[in-house]
Amino acid sequence: MSDHFEQIAAGLDQYADVPDDVLWTRVTTDGECMRLYASGQAPEFSGDIHSDRELAARVCAGCPVRGECLEVEFRTAGYLSLGVWGALNEEDRRAVYPLWLARRETGDRE
Ligand code: SF4
Repeated sequence: MSDHFEQIAAGLDQYADVPDDVLWTRVTTDGECMRLYASGQAPEFSGDIHSDRELAARVCAGCPVRGECLEVEFRTAGYLSLGVWGALNEEDRRAVYPLWLARRETGDRE
């Protein structure tokens, strides 16, 4: 599993030099959740953490800017935010975040 998380962290290297505002624009313009909300088809969350997480993961799975979204989330909230961002739930983000951070701090990028 740690290899899987390392691969996710490495996959974000491509965004390392992309400015925050460019990433935000991509996420807000092309994010699947943004499209659904704008078209009045917002996912109906039930308040149950497990089913809501599943629903969010399904929405994210079809999103073309998952990487940009996860990069923005790590830059702005670290791993402390709740819910599903960039198709990862909190538990997975907490596993990927230190790997992502280490790659940025050491400049060890692909
Ligand atoms: S990855 Fe998920 S939370 Fe992020 S923009 Fe796409 S649909 Fe929204």
